[in-house]
Amino acid sequence: MADDTDWRLQGQERYLKGAVVTYHKYRRTSESWDHDHCEFCLAKFMEASTDPDVKTDGYATVHGDRWICSTCLADFKERFTLVIRQ
Ligand SMILES: [Zn+2]
Repeated sequence: MADDTDWRLQGQERYLKGAVVTYHKYRRTSESWDHDHCEFCLAKFMEASTDPDVKTDGYATVHGDRWICSTCLADFKERFTLVIRQ
């Protein structure tokens, strides 16, 4: 559980409050952009990587344009009232 001073909090309430997210493999959404970052900790998501720090799955918003890693989801789901859809 994170508190108000957590470094990962950067005003995401504006666009993530109450968001619906689903857990799945990372899929790139653009031909010209091969990765995304966690909305909170900025961990990198890619479709495939040999780097253990790069994540290949996580929680995405319904439009697939914002990604949240499982650690940050656990820390912020209550604060942001995130809805996890199976
Ligand atoms: Zn994260």
